[in-house]
Amino acid sequence: MLVVQTIAEVRKFVGEARESRKSVGFVPTMGALHEGHASLIRRAVERCDYVVLSVFVNPTQFGPSEDLAKYPRTFDADRQLADRLGVDLCFAPSASEMYAANCSTYVVPEGLQDALCGRSRPGHFRGVCTVVAKLFNIVRPDVAFFGQKDAQQAVIVQRMIEDLNFAVELEVLPTVREPDGLAMSSRNAYLSPAQRQDALCLFHALQAAFAAITRAQRDAAAIRAQMQQAIAAMPSARVEYIELVDAATLKPVTGLAGHHVLIALAVHVGATRLIDNIVVDVT
Ligand code: AMP
Repeated sequence: MLVVQTIAEVRKFVGEARESRKSVGFVPTMGALHEGHASLIRRAVERCDYVVLSVFVNPTQFGPSEDLAKYPRTFDADRQLADRLGVDLCFAPSASEMYAANCSTYVVPEGLQDALCGRSRPGHFRGVCTVVAKLFNIVRPDVAFFGQKDAQQAVIVQRMIEDLNFAVELEVLPTVREPDGLAMSSRNAYLSPAQRQDALCLFHALQAAFAAITRAQRDAAAIRAQMQQAIAAMPSARVEYIELVDAATLKPVTGLAGHHVLIALAVHVGATRLIDNIVVDVT
């Protein structure tokens, strides 16, 4: 595996791969790789001839009071894992390589950014879209691999691909969980052992929602109340949002019948903000 820091090197090596008619797969990440990222890389290696991984903690998607400075950085381990999994090219740019000092053009996902996580993280999806658009232009992949763990991000990136005519196919892969159900996340590293236990409330709330739908509950408010209860039981947990929305439009649904429903939540466990979701096809 080659590790490069510059846009010019990515263009050179991906250009050579293209010239030899290789299909190019791309997995964008912020590093601190775990099994969730590994599942995307494995799929990319399986599906594409040449796989590019980016490791970049993107400053424009962090708010002023968020965890940019302390976001976990484990590059040596990341590069070893990526190499073992069969990544061809690892792109680990500096912030100044990605953003010139006079950079003033951004990609704003209007509408979709006002839902779910966007409400408490103003500018977050503008930062995500901007960096993903830049990375798509740098790497020019055939297929990009994203995780369902960040459901709103996947919907927004799909919308951006269509709106801005990127010649990229998005493949969204299922959320990878710890054996007890906690969705894997680089931010799980922030949790104390007691908080790690409490963090299970996100998964338990989603399970409660799924069970209620299985028992023919179709009222979103009733399901939300049940989820709220599962979280209230945990001392260090505080709900930011619990939402039942249409999985494509991210608009709230009140009666679930006939919807492809995204059940999504954000919960603060101590100082750590965690998200999780499931999608249920409700008849
Ligand atoms: P991040 O490094 O957190 O920006 O994530 C990079 C990519 O990995 C995104 O497409 C995420 O949705 C995906 N990802 C993160 N956690 C998981 C997980 N537990 N399961 C599947 N994909 C994940």
